[in-house]
Amino acid sequence: MRGNDKVDAPVFRRPSSLPDKRGYFGEFGGRYVSESLIEALYELETAFRLAWKDKSFHREMEEVYRDYVGRPTPLYCATALSDKVGGARIYLKREDLNHTGAHKINNTVGQALLARRMGKKRLIAETGAGQHGVATATVAARYGFECDVYMGSEDVRRQSLNVFRMNLLGTTVRPVDQGTRTLKDAISEALRDWSQSVMTTHYVLGTAFGPHPFPLMVRSFQSVIGREARKQILAKEGRLPDALVACVGGGSNAMGLFYPFLSDLDCALYGVEAGGRSLNPGEHAARFQTGKVGVLQGSRTYVLQDRDGQIEKTHSVSAGLDYSAVGPELAYYHDTGRIAFSSVGDEEAMEAFEMLCRSEGILPALESAHAIAWTIRLARQLGPSRVVVANLSGRGDKDVMEVARIKGVTFS
Ligand SMILES: *Cc1c(COP(=O)(O)O)cnc(C)c1O
Repeated sequence: MRGNDKVDAPVFRRPSSLPDKRGYFGEFGGRYVSESLIEALYELETAFRLAWKDKSFHREMEEVYRDYVGRPTPLYCATALSDKVGGARIYLKREDLNHTGAHKINNTVGQALLARRMGKKRLIAETGAGQHGVATATVAARYGFECDVYMGSEDVRRQSLNVFRMNLLGTTVRPVDQGTRTLKDAISEALRDWSQSVMTTHYVLGTAFGPHPFPLMVRSFQSVIGREARKQILAKEGRLPDALVACVGGGSNAMGLFYPFLSDLDCALYGVEAGGRSLNPGEHAARFQTGKVGVLQGSRTYVLQDRDGQIEKTHSVSAGLDYSAVGPELAYYHDTGRIAFSSVGDEEAMEAFEMLCRSEGILPALESAHAIAWTIRLARQLGPSRVVVANLSGRGDKDVMEVARIKGVTFS
């Protein structure tokens, strides 16, 4: 094991789960965008607030979640893994069983229904590994939106299967040749497109990041995860869990699970970032461990940057955690102590991946494997008669080729 082996429970100070009028959670968040996007963000915020108060919007969303996405997802007691680990009882929130294989669709369904209410005809999105692109292309097909997805050309090359998937769904993938040709550059291009097309177009941001109201909106759509988990654990255990664990890319699956538990101070909340190869610059995405507060892509938050403020390169075995900034709401709970953050490296995530495959017959996404690895450490430390809920944010089918590559397996 490497990094912070000791599992300290977070110390909580001040609860507040709504951003202020300008979109700040404490000192984090805001709306750092060009003038041409401010109007669009106001329009979006108003539309979202109205929809969120409207029972008919929720009724429609619940129906889609049930009949199309496959919700509620089960809360599964992983007894074989728990026995093998020999500590606390481990439950898995099975977001991997959603349509398209991860939690991302909870958000894209919500935003597609909202875009339809707003009379938009076209969706755009950014994608790194392609998961959010596929989830957006899926709802675009379902609701008849035109759809363009921006993707760094380096990612297009690495994720050709997901590019083809999006094409099958009727979406145009637009490779971005700027900068490092990865997710960060794709977000910049999507924002640029949006600033010129706001009349007809909604930008479906994929995580709890970016300018206000995106962090609030994405967290709200994803909070269905935590609402279900809360009911399910109460039904199964007759009490709340001692701890909840989720991996953190931008923060949408973590905020989605944690949000309904924020004021349950006896539930410890743990966010797990990508420790990559090491905590040296360029070899990880552990923003809370070595990042500094700065502004990136519309939001003030923890950012991996060098002394001159240049954005650092990142690395993780899991593409979904491989990003240099983190959602502002998580930054706020980091500073207030409500959520404890840690990191798990590539190797430990791979071990957890294999352990879950072998013990439970579940192939997790490599992102989720980071949460599993931390859950294993935590369960050992907590010991029997304690209960831990981990978010299994996605399935590992998409990662099978990457795992084969790491293991040196080749196919003829
Ligand atoms: C995208 C992704 C993540 C990371 O994104 P968050 O917004 O931090 O949840 C985690 N797990 C899976 C399976 C993903 O596809």
